[in-house]
Amino acid sequence: MRVIDDILERYRISGDRSYGEHVTQTAHMLQAAMFAADGGETDAMIAAALLHDVGHFIDDAGEAAERDGIDAGHESIGAAWLSQVFPLEVTAPIALHVAAKRYLCATEPGYADGLSDASRLSLRLQGGPFTPAEARAFAALPHARDGIRLRRYDDRAKQIGLETPALDTYRPLLVRLAARLEA
Ligand code: FE
Repeated sequence: MRVIDDILERYRISGDRSYGEHVTQTAHMLQAAMFAADGGETDAMIAAALLHDVGHFIDDAGEAAERDGIDAGHESIGAAWLSQVFPLEVTAPIALHVAAKRYLCATEPGYADGLSDASRLSLRLQGGPFTPAEARAFAALPHARDGIRLRRYDDRAKQIGLETPALDTYRPLLVRLAARLEA
């Protein structure tokens, strides 16, 4: 499974970068995956949590743009790249995890107050809270609920020093999911 190894290699190369929230990118995604597993999620959702920010590892130009305050759309970059090997149950929640934040900011009182500083800053670049019409359109999407649950794991996954399973423990799960698309 060359693509899976390529993905895991990117964590090793780029994952020690700061997520901007006092945890590394890899630690952030390992925490999100652990919360998804603890939440009784399917393998596809656990993989979505583990891979949700992988777009940050793919497009260096996009990364530079984000540092300059331009939104590069890491959720779309990641989802498109992962769709080579993973089914929609993995990629759709990833594609929607930024929209889910905009949705929750618009519809859930107090949600925005709980966001980290970095998340609140990126919210503005990402277009801010949805309008009521945008929120309705989002809620009608087939994977909206998955995107929202992924968002909540994402929001919690910023804890300094939290122990998680190691990255390699997820390799069999990723291989299983990739095989599902090939079948
Ligand atoms: Fe994230």
